[in-house]
Amino acid sequence: ARKRLLKLKKTPAVTRDGTPVTLLANIELPDDCPAALEAGATGVGLFRSEFLFMGRAGQQHKMPSEDEQFEQYRKAVLAMKGRPVTIRTLDIGADKPLDPTEHNALNPALGLRAIRYCLAEPQMFLTQLRAILRASAYGKVRILIPMLAHAFEIDQSLAMLKQAKATLLDENVKFDPAVEVGAMIEIPAAALALPMFIKRLDFLSIGTNDLIQYTLAIDRVDYEVAHLYNPLHPAVLQLIAMTIDAGKKAGKDVAVCGEMAGDVKLTRLLLGMGLREFSMHPAQLLAVKQEILNSDLKAIAPVTRRILRSMEPAEIAQAVEQLQTM
Ligand code: PEP
Ligand code: MG
Repeated sequence: ARKRLLKLKKTPAVTRDGTPVTLLANIELPDDCPAALEAGATGVGLFRSEFLFMGRAGQQHKMPSEDEQFEQYRKAVLAMKGRPVTIRTLDIGADKPLDPTEHNALNPALGLRAIRYCLAEPQMFLTQLRAILRASAYGKVRILIPMLAHAFEIDQSLAMLKQAKATLLDENVKFDPAVEVGAMIEIPAAALALPMFIKRLDFLSIGTNDLIQYTLAIDRVDYEVAHLYNPLHPAVLQLIAMTIDAGKKAGKDVAVCGEMAGDVKLTRLLLGMGLREFSMHPAQLLAVKQEILNSDLKAIAPVTRRILRSMEPAEIAQAVEQLQTM
């Protein structure tokens, strides 16, 4: 079966009725790029940049320097050979602490993490933005900002990007002036206030891991409540569907980059919801592609509509099963 999947590496991801779908890879470090290409990814949909920052507790400098970051971002961009690379700005805190010994917030998932941390440490954020911009001179780079909830966070982030660009211009350093900027939609407030995001940004990427955590109030890393962590909860599905619809209406790309994107049991449901861009761990990519190749959007549509109208978990689960058999 693995062999058959490998044969799909170069096959374009297109549904049976001819709709193209973009399949991207999630990476943690530039060294993951060969695996992404091996799986046939047409780009990186999520480069979790925090992995460059983690595990440095013993080192003299807690943060990687601008040059160090630039080298890593450029390495990923070059490794992907012209395919787009979406670099997410630092998403530190909660389940990804910068220094595990320095962790004392009572509710770290609700605390100073991700963009909140970056806006509180503007020098560090500027350094990262400059490093990412410099890498954009070597291939197509997109910037993705995690954990946004407030308009002022978007505005401040964009202002800092503008500032980073201005300093590079001053120094005659090359970068792509048209680099696209997108938001992770992973806080329910964001999914319920989409026009705020669409007005300001170029694309959206749904982080289902956190979106589920925050919608259901379930700590994503607490095994005692793991049985309550349900991607098919109707509230979660509504938020995802709303985000895909709003992006489509505004002509902005919408991806899913959480674990749901790599779950073959959910591929048809997401297709039916209108999703055309999936970003996942490279190991899942060919299996998801196979599912897409075998999917007929016309057959999926009515079942998906039924799922989105339902508030009954058993009915939803049964309809999702039914999607597998079509
Ligand atoms: C997510 O929240 O779904 C996501 C993709 O980001 P992370 O898992 O890194 O928080
Ligand atoms: Mg997240």
